[in-house]
Amino acid sequence: DDSERALIARREKVLGPAYRLFYEKPLHLVRGEGVFLYDVAGEKYLDAYNNVASLGHCHPRVVEAITKQTAILNTHTRYLHEGIVDYAETLTETFPDTLSQAMFTCTGSEANDLAVRIARFVTGGTGIIATELAYHGLTSAVAEFSPSLGESVTLGPHVRTVPSPDAYRNSPEEVMEKFGRDVCAAIADLKRHGIKPAMLVTDTIFSSDGIFAGPKGFLKPAVDAIHEAGGLFVADEVQPGFGRTGETMWGFERHGVSPDMVTIGKPMGNGYPMAGIVLRPEIIAEFGPRARYFNTFGGNPVAAAAGKAVLDAIRIDGLQHNALDVGRYLMDGLMSLSHTAIGDVRGSGLFIGVEIVSDTATKRPDAALTTRIVNGLRERRILISASGPNANILKIRPPLVFAREHADMLLSALDDVLNTA
Ligand code: PMP
Repeated sequence: DDSERALIARREKVLGPAYRLFYEKPLHLVRGEGVFLYDVAGEKYLDAYNNVASLGHCHPRVVEAITKQTAILNTHTRYLHEGIVDYAETLTETFPDTLSQAMFTCTGSEANDLAVRIARFVTGGTGIIATELAYHGLTSAVAEFSPSLGESVTLGPHVRTVPSPDAYRNSPEEVMEKFGRDVCAAIADLKRHGIKPAMLVTDTIFSSDGIFAGPKGFLKPAVDAIHEAGGLFVADEVQPGFGRTGETMWGFERHGVSPDMVTIGKPMGNGYPMAGIVLRPEIIAEFGPRARYFNTFGGNPVAAAAGKAVLDAIRIDGLQHNALDVGRYLMDGLMSLSHTAIGDVRGSGLFIGVEIVSDTATKRPDAALTTRIVNGLRERRILISASGPNANILKIRPPLVFAREHADMLLSALDDVLNTA
């Protein structure tokens, strides 16, 4: 309507064309509660996409923690305050013993930016290996190894990329070995150019690469290779972390590898901007005394309170288990939708990709149909998105409080859309 068009025009005028919205007719939201979002006309949408509000929108426990703390004290992070200590203790307890210290930032980009700086400082190398369509963040240093940003970014001369583990188009056995082989080749190529490797950085469910969960254990040879070459392994858990993959709290644990640093963000404050790195204490011991770290907002009292409330809710409400249970239920349901456009259903817990193809024999990506599905679901008041190199993978990544009844809503709407799109 007119007021909507006027708002879009105002937005374009003041924000310009780079700051894009989902959908041709953007969704004008005014409120969220649990797994539901409400638009300006009062229509209710099932959110099957947003992992920032990982406990559900406006979770009472987090709202209360933020409200309480913000009324008492919020300041920069250079005074002694209990909140950050409490939070760091609770957070590091969810990690294996080797990862016992934390550093806080405000965004995932900053966390990865700091991780590169630390990796270079402690290894003396500069080389970085990432996956072909990874997104690790927006800072200049991180954009240089975030190929999914496309033409706005030039990969650094010190960056090598490797294909992600596509188990749909390769056999699991092949995927299992290929990644390690590719990383070894990338290390060799860096060395040939006189570049010492500093780190291998990967998602532990490869998100922008195509939502590949990878066969379990496939990361191990690659991690061994980067360690042998004197580099560090950085696990980017910004998307899969905080129980989403269901089986484990952190995605890397599915693969039986020990990262040197783990970068975390998105769900960490259920919407309150906070992120960070959890790392081996030996690394901070090396980095800390000589290269100082300061972050005005990272780990501030309100952030710490929000983060603590999130971890408490995950534990008390059993959300990791819910992700496993409802994730399996949803994946089974997706697999049993008999439609020729569904080429592959993959993922772990509540992080699921559905690859849409023009027919399952040729596996040819069908981006146009994928867009029609995403739009068709929106018309049926369900929000998901599309991802992957060919924009033909339905990305299903709902809040962890998603219940079976919500999965049923998604499944029946998707079935309906597939039969008409
Ligand atoms: N790493 C991954 C895997 C991400 O998905 C994102 C955000 N999409 C980031 C890092 C960057 O996080 P932020 O947007 O909070 O800077």
